[in-house]
Amino acid sequence: MFQAKAYSAASATSPLAPTQIPRRDTTERDVQIEILFCGICHSDLHQVRNEWSGILPTVYPIVPGHEIVGRVTRVGADVTRFKLGDMVGVGCMVDSDHTCPSCQADVEQFCPNATFTYNSPDKYLGGVTYGGYSECIVVEEKFVLRVPASLDPAGVAPLLCAGITTYSPMRRWGDLRGKKVGVVGLGGLGHMGVKFARAFGARVAVFTTSPRKKEDALRLGAHEVIISTNAEVMQQHAGTFDFILDTIAAEHDINAYLRMLGLDGTLTLVGAPETPFQVSAFALLFGRKRLSGSLIGGIRETQEMLDFCGKHNITADVEVIPIQRVNEAYERLAKSDVKYRFSIDMASLKSE
Ligand code: NAP
Ligand code: ZN
Repeated sequence: MFQAKAYSAASATSPLAPTQIPRRDTTERDVQIEILFCGICHSDLHQVRNEWSGILPTVYPIVPGHEIVGRVTRVGADVTRFKLGDMVGVGCMVDSDHTCPSCQADVEQFCPNATFTYNSPDKYLGGVTYGGYSECIVVEEKFVLRVPASLDPAGVAPLLCAGITTYSPMRRWGDLRGKKVGVVGLGGLGHMGVKFARAFGARVAVFTTSPRKKEDALRLGAHEVIISTNAEVMQQHAGTFDFILDTIAAEHDINAYLRMLGLDGTLTLVGAPETPFQVSAFALLFGRKRLSGSLIGGIRETQEMLDFCGKHNITADVEVIPIQRVNEAYERLAKSDVKYRFSIDMASLKSE
């Protein structure tokens, strides 16, 4: 075991502050990574503030961060896929049991014994796992992803969560070419959803509560922008969508978006407000509509997504910040004021 620099929060109302955390010594199956960039996901904010207390209570201190990009600095004796200096990524998971039906089906995110990157029982050191707001991390080889060399690492980091979370449900829906796809909420997930939907050949509309984001939405690839607070405009689009991805991080009226779907349309939730939704049966019955959810993606699919991004030159649009500005970034994220993902330059941690 050794000590590493990190940023942690001591309680739901404490700011993130510099600290030291333990990391395990590299076992024969592990890869040790110097973290270069870590994205800030709204899930980090939810968990730092214990906003999922009923479902996934936060254990303090918490070191968030599950959009990790870095360089390999050490490999265990049995590691075959990575060598020193490789550019790699780590997302929301660092381990699973490898044997359950979910692991066998390459959907390790549903393994009952999955270890998430932070706030998850740590089977090596006890306590809970610590995430990517840190100078380094030690991860089992299977959960380490190859990052295409052509892509900017600061913009790659958010692909490890925002990227796979939007890529996976769209891929699962099927061939989106020529289909009408709606992306609800233009934040970290939403802006990746727009890029992927466009890359998959869909006709893309963004639903936003922020009229100021209209130009950006079009630049990111949307064909049209719908201001969701305007009931008249919403009415004009009712019944026209094949697929809608809802990325909203807060409580909202989901029926308003179910009404946008056409016959056999699907609305997939990826946003994770803790409060339950009120769903109107009639909003689903008429039009035989489907409401579903999706959670990140398995390791195989995450690699497929990264390779797709390498081929199509897709990265997140990021505001790069030093770790010292992380609390300010959280305040802005809570106000939907980010273009469109914060990516922490971890070199800034060296001065702590
Ligand atoms: P984000 O960057 O804050 O984006 C969320 C967007 O939702 C905002 O930019 C805003 O877009 C819209 N929004 C926020 N509050 C709203 C409200 N009260 N009413 C209507 N719209 C609102 O967050 P993110 O990082 O993309 O994450 C979004 C959600 O997905 C979070 O709940 C996060 O925990 C969850 N998540 C889930 C998974 C998964 O595997 N399912 C993975 C990662 C994250 P506009 O300004 O355009 O309206
Ligand atoms: Zn995330």
